Amino acid sequence: MQFNTAFASELTWPDYDAAVRDGTTPILIPIGAMEQHGHHMPLHVDVLLPTEFARRVAAQIGALVAPPFTYGYKSHQKSGGGNHLPGTTSLDGATLVAALKDVVKEFTRHGVRKICLVNGHFENSWFIVEAIDLALRELRWDGVTDLKVVVLSYWDFVHKEAICELYPGGFPGWDVEHGGVLETSLMLALHPQFVHLDRAVDHPPATFPPYDVYPVKREWTPAPGTLSSPREASVEKGHILLDVCTRGIIDALRGEFG
Ligand code: ZN
Ligand code: MN
Repeated sequence: MQFNTAFASELTWPDYDAAVRDGTTPILIPIGAMEQHGHHMPLHVDVLLPTEFARRVAAQIGALVAPPFTYGYKSHQKSGGGNHLPGTTSLDGATLVAALKDVVKEFTRHGVRKICLVNGHFENSWFIVEAIDLALRELRWDGVTDLKVVVLSYWDFVHKEAICELYPGGFPGWDVEHGGVLETSLMLALHPQFVHLDRAVDHPPATFPPYDVYPVKREWTPAPGTLSSPREASVEKGHILLDVCTRGIIDALRGEFG
């Protein structure tokens, strides 16, 4: 079924019902966070990026995009700067698991049998897995055994060749790519009005000891909140990332959903 929007919530209920009732239309659920992204980007980067990937993919595979999860699990110091930072607004793990489980079960009640979680915030990862596991278990008790769920994080589709092209000076690793080249380039390509490159702070990639301390030691997080520098970010890199990740996700979902 083709509509002039990829967003499920923009449809009337009869149109939505007609699209999902027989279970063939996949639903893509973007899941992000409200989290500081340095001095140069807004708090909803982790929501905007997976939502746009989902929108692009949905248009190609005939899927619908669910309203995104705009709050996520707590920012970890070594991947998001830490949950102590201003602006970062997070859910307890149990809250996120319960809400996501509810939503997955609701879409299933509508008839949906193909769901993809499009993650944009690293710390959500295991809570997504837990929510899906609980949803599948409860649905099984209700006799529903044909729901298939794909879980992915968009950055995992950036392959080696692209990494070499994007990081000629050496790849710092996805864990410290918080507010760095990846997210800043994508935001420059998609939402330049939200990026203030003149306020970006250049600093070496954050280094941490191989353990965590709680309460966090604030001095471990670079002062601007980013974990690597956005200095080498560019619109061109944003388009490379968009292209590589969108194509990768489309291939994966065509393979899994047919
Ligand atoms: Zn982020
Ligand atoms: Mn994040």
